[in-house]
Amino acid sequence: MSATVLPWHRPVVEDLVARRATLPHALLIHGREGTGLVELARGIAQSLLCESGQGGTACGACPACGWFRDGNHPDFREVRPESLDEEDASPADSDAPEGKEEKKSLFIKIDQIRALADFMMLTTHRDGLRILVLHPAESMKSEAANALLKTLEEPPPRTLILLVTSRVGRLLATIRSRCQKLAAPRPAPDVALSWLRAQGVGQPELALAAAGGAPLDAVAFAAPEYQAARSAFVRVLADPRGDMLACAQAHEKADLTQPLLWLHTWVHDLMLGLHALPPAYFPDQSAALSRIAGSANARAVCRFETSLREARRLVHHPLNPRLFLEQLLISYAAAIEPVSPAKRP
Ligand SMILES: [Zn+2]
Repeated sequence: MSATVLPWHRPVVEDLVARRATLPHALLIHGREGTGLVELARGIAQSLLCESGQGGTACGACPACGWFRDGNHPDFREVRPESLDEEDASPADSDAPEGKEEKKSLFIKIDQIRALADFMMLTTHRDGLRILVLHPAESMKSEAANALLKTLEEPPPRTLILLVTSRVGRLLATIRSRCQKLAAPRPAPDVALSWLRAQGVGQPELALAAAGGAPLDAVAFAAPEYQAARSAFVRVLADPRGDMLACAQAHEKADLTQPLLWLHTWVHDLMLGLHALPPAYFPDQSAALSRIAGSANARAVCRFETSLREARRLVHHPLNPRLFLEQLLISYAAAIEPVSPAKRP
């Protein structure tokens, strides 16, 4: 990828590059997940480190851009939880080879912050800025956050720290208060759609709707395997007599994050349907949604939506994923059970 800055980020990046002499030492980039928050941080970093001398966004052609692209620019570091290092799909299997590290950490560890000491202390290699990108910022536990705090309080000269988060409320107040906030822009729908078309995404409108307007999620959602899994799941939701137990079984070994997202967005659309509004996430399912909404008990659906929110908070550690999903689907079926016209409020 030579164009490293996403189209909807360009004005923000250009503005920061123009202000490079007066930048704060730390920026907290926050915004909606799936709109390219980390990409924005990297785009800012590369554009500030770019040595083309032309200003604006990174040229993609100078030596500095080359090192950046290859991941070895000496004045750039990126810190993230180990679990993001490689998306190798190896769930904690019972027959994993002995002696291997069980599970990669979901958190940024204090050692990772301490390991930055040399990078922070030494003079920069290219006589420009030194830039650290850290994401997701809320994945620092208090130990690591406190270690970083020292750097934020007494930042070395010519240093820019970019913290990235989609959950700004989960950061320590002391961290938040030492950063200048930068709201990551969200793309207008037409900008997102033309970008998706350029990425070769078929049916970009449906993909963007499924992703709630977040274009990077939309790219992932447009993958055929993802589409197939989502459609199969939605078929069960659309037909209350469908085999929910088999559906739960199909997700027995899988991470439940996506199925719960599908269920939640589906119920969200169902609630829109209760108010005779068109679906936001499943525009191609409006007939099924309005049929269900037309006979369901609004209060039961709302109660279910509340319980679903709680369930999504627990999704990372259900004891038994199949039972967990099965229970949710049974509750869903009960919530959308048609009420007789006489009993309707
Ligand atoms: Zn360059």
